[in-house]
Amino acid sequence: MKVLINEEQLRQGIAQLAERIRTQYRDRPLTIVGVMIGSLVLLADLIRLIDLPMRVDLVQARSYREGTRPGPLVINLDLLSSDIRGRDVLLVDDIFDTGNTLWELVPQLDELGPASIRTAVLLRKEGRCEVRMQPDFVAFDIPDGFVVGYGLDYGDLYRNLPYVAVLEPHELSGEPGS
Ligand code: 5GP
Ligand code: MG
Repeated sequence: MKVLINEEQLRQGIAQLAERIRTQYRDRPLTIVGVMIGSLVLLADLIRLIDLPMRVDLVQARSYREGTRPGPLVINLDLLSSDIRGRDVLLVDDIFDTGNTLWELVPQLDELGPASIRTAVLLRKEGRCEVRMQPDFVAFDIPDGFVVGYGLDYGDLYRNLPYVAVLEPHELSGEPGS
């Protein structure tokens, strides 16, 4: 694998992301909702850099069932433990690829009556978007390729890498076209 974003670059990019979020909300209380499992590491780092009155909550979405190919998208709101009615919600995910995950999640959360919903992602892949939305906050735009680390997995591995790396074709085992 090849390192795409190293630890220092991540630290700087996430600090800038936090600053843009803080400026957007100023002193308004914020409810940050992390999309599990991929946003786990980003969430932990990001919330500690945002000095606002804050609630933290979770939802779950899965699309990459096996390998790098998206399976059917499964959204689970059972983890959401607070009432987001009337709250300013920031949905945080690891990566905006086709965009389908956030495109489906936003309306489902909107049904719960928040005052506002915005979205923030660590990574956005170039040239992959299939939906009519873009995240409100993006830390890094990256070229198309399968990335792991800093929360992102391949077959449930690599989430603990402290950097973001691109897997090379020979590391993507047993997939058509690899
Ligand atoms: P989207 O719905 O935007 O196509 O994809 C979003 C989800 O797919 C992400 O939350 C992430 O779980 C997964 N995903 C998309 N691209 C990648 C990638 O390059 N690497 C990994 N590990 N997961 C990805
Ligand atoms: Mg995900």
